[in-house]
Amino acid sequence: MKSENNLFHLKVIFKKYPVFLFFLGFVGIITLLSAMFIFNNSIIQLYMFFLSIIIFFVFFYRVGVFRYKKHQTKNILINKERELSREKCRVDILLDVGQLCSWQYSVSAGILKFDASGANILGETKSYYTYEELIQNRYLKKILDYIENLDTPVFDEEACFPFVNKWVIIRGRCIGRDIDGRPNQFIGIIIDNTERKQTLKKLEEISVTDELTKLKNRRFFFETFSRELNLYKRNHQVFSVAMLDLDYFKKINDEYGHLAGDYILKKFADLITREVRPYDVVARFGGEEFIIMFPSIDKSEAKKIVNRLKVKVGFLENKFHDQLIKFTFSCGIGDVSEIGQYTEEEFITIIDDRLYKAKHLGRNLIVSGG
Ligand code: GH3
Ligand code: MG
Ligand code: MG
Repeated sequence: MKSENNLFHLKVIFKKYPVFLFFLGFVGIITLLSAMFIFNNSIIQLYMFFLSIIIFFVFFYRVGVFRYKKHQTKNILINKERELSREKCRVDILLDVGQLCSWQYSVSAGILKFDASGANILGETKSYYTYEELIQNRYLKKILDYIENLDTPVFDEEACFPFVNKWVIIRGRCIGRDIDGRPNQFIGIIIDNTERKQTLKKLEEISVTDELTKLKNRRFFFETFSRELNLYKRNHQVFSVAMLDLDYFKKINDEYGHLAGDYILKKFADLITREVRPYDVVARFGGEEFIIMFPSIDKSEAKKIVNRLKVKVGFLENKFHDQLIKFTFSCGIGDVSEIGQYTEEEFITIIDDRLYKAKHLGRNLIVSGG
């Protein structure tokens, strides 16, 4: 066992220091050859000569001088393999750090493969799909759609996977073609974009929401209003707009305090939301002014809804710190069939004029004409 070990060490030393090995062999052969000339006996000389040849082959070959080159190539291959697997490891770590996953698709094999994190992102248990499975999966089919209609060098598509509540960006490119030049091999990545999408959605929501009343804000109203006005110009789908302003609101602030004023604004906003239809757009226009857009009904129908609201406001029991606060509102209403030929600003000005008419006529009124 020990001698085997020594031999092993010797091999390692010789492999590591081939010049030393060469030197040793060289000295051995020279010694034997010189000995051949010292002894005058031809049998001993022959014996020495063969011995030196045996040393040359056995010793040098056994410990690997001739195989040194072979070892070298083998080592290069092993090192290359190690480097590749280290590289793959590094790529896997980078994909993981970037929360990315990789995919590859072979047209000829008709197989789409994900790495493990890819299947995880998409909430899938499998990490490969056949062509038949893909065409039945309306989300993963996006990858196929891209491949089949390849007209850009890089595929970059956003897709939603609603079962797992995920938004992903699928990117890829063609890396190989068949002998007829048709794209055949594709690779790409999938980026989990859910968090960013949710943050964007939240920001979008904030940018169109009134902080105090949680109604939509003026900006949102104008976006919807302008869209509806354009639609009307094409398909004459009627809609109405009502502008509401609380009467003597300044007095409420003065008498009960600003917080009581805020409380009334919130109460009124909640009441409107409850009274209108889910697809009506209610927005805080500013201060104590509110605006409602009623899609697909004319002003007489809208007036009925606002009238119902007026009655409900009369019955509201608004208690702020045990103080009962009563209020009323005035309203101007119009519909697109009578003022649709005007611009957005002109339309709103006409409704605003009707609101102020209601104020001048004594408040707590709805004016829909004139
Ligand atoms: P009118 O019947 O003519 O509408 O009288 P008004 O007092 O309601 O109208 P005016 O424009 O004189 O006063 C509106 C008041 O609404 C003044 C302002 O301080 C108050 N206001 C505006 N925004 C808010 C708010 O967010 N919170 C509170 N508490 N008050 C607000
Ligand atoms: Mg007012
Ligand atoms: Mg006002």
